[in-house]
Amino acid sequence: GSTIGILGGGQLGRMMANAGSAMGYRFVALDPTPDAPCGQVAEQIVAAYDDREAARELAKRSDVITYEFENVDAGVAAMLMQESYVPQGSELLYTTQHRLREKRAIEAAGVKVAPYSEIRSVDELREAVGRFGLPCVLKTATGGYDGKGQWVIRGEEEIPEAYETLSRAKTELVLEQFIRFEKELSVIAARSPQGEVKTFPAAENVHVDNILHLSIVPARASEAVLREAERLAAAIAEGLGAVGLIAVELFLTADGELFVNELAPRPHNSGHYTMEACRTSQFEQHVRAICGLPLGDTTLLTPVVMVNVLGEHIEPLLKHVAVADSAAARHGVAPKVHLYGKHEAKHKRKMGHINVLAENVDAALAWISETNIWRV
Ligand code: ATP
Ligand code: MG
Ligand code: MG
Repeated sequence: GSTIGILGGGQLGRMMANAGSAMGYRFVALDPTPDAPCGQVAEQIVAAYDDREAARELAKRSDVITYEFENVDAGVAAMLMQESYVPQGSELLYTTQHRLREKRAIEAAGVKVAPYSEIRSVDELREAVGRFGLPCVLKTATGGYDGKGQWVIRGEEEIPEAYETLSRAKTELVLEQFIRFEKELSVIAARSPQGEVKTFPAAENVHVDNILHLSIVPARASEAVLREAERLAAAIAEGLGAVGLIAVELFLTADGELFVNELAPRPHNSGHYTMEACRTSQFEQHVRAICGLPLGDTTLLTPVVMVNVLGEHIEPLLKHVAVADSAAARHGVAPKVHLYGKHEAKHKRKMGHINVLAENVDAALAWISETNIWRV
């Protein structure tokens, strides 16, 4: 069997290795944290992500290289390309590492993003805020996640402080018009090196404090909107010449308009529902794509709601497990628990998720609101 090397050893790598091991592949992950989530189910090289020597070692031990986060150091990416096989290439990383490059690539694929403007000075910010109106969202072009590196500007008096605070990140800034969306959706597309493209069913995503809380599938929107979201994701995968998975986050407005928010060139938290609810999981699909196998069938087998388990949910989860079990029987739902093997249950840290399989999404949502796990 071949060995797949993963840059990064978090939960995405762990679930990829679990799916790929079942298909006969071996895995080795590079991650600085000893006994990282992926290191518990695969081999691990313990070193910093930008350690060139460690990356060379990863390349030597792998037939195929992939990554589980997009902020891969450009020098490391170039080295891996030279010393091993990186089917996803470095272009996709280069594009998705930077919000401005990403937005331009999405537009070039014929897909709409929220109106935006590059900001190079506080005067440009003032001018752009005047054009877009309030509120609007200032974001750093690189390095942001879970809403970090963003400022929702609600009044003109916030402009100097917003500019100064985000400028400290030493990267370009981008201002976006605030989209009064009705729902957030996401679609995960996969593309193989041969150009085959498949999309997973769109998920409806609910965030709490900028962190994903729920993914609801089927999303509660019209068939036409869902088909359109899936079509846009496929167009982006094709337009960017992606290989492997590409996750597409979208805003849906009340009048049915779709705007792409951002992309991630990897498995995505909002695709975890596929593990039990689709014929092929996002992780199997990614392995298939990067190994040049035919893509798997993405048909949804059952309605599902994925709910994230953060650090603060671990104690209630353990405490209420008996109650949650009897409530599950009452609601006729099957909660599938996935934990990532992280040692410290820090506040807001993603520790696991539960895929609640159900007859319909309302039953799954009723179970989630009835348990005392997410009320903290
Ligand atoms: P992630 O953890 O998904 O990578 P991130 O830090 O990269 O998050 P975004 O996805 O850009 O940030 O934004 C986080 C959330 O903020 C979005 O899911 C959405 O709820 C809200 N948001 C971002 N941009 C806009 C916008 N232009 N209009 C309205 N809401 C927005
Ligand atoms: Mg992001
Ligand atoms: Mg996002």
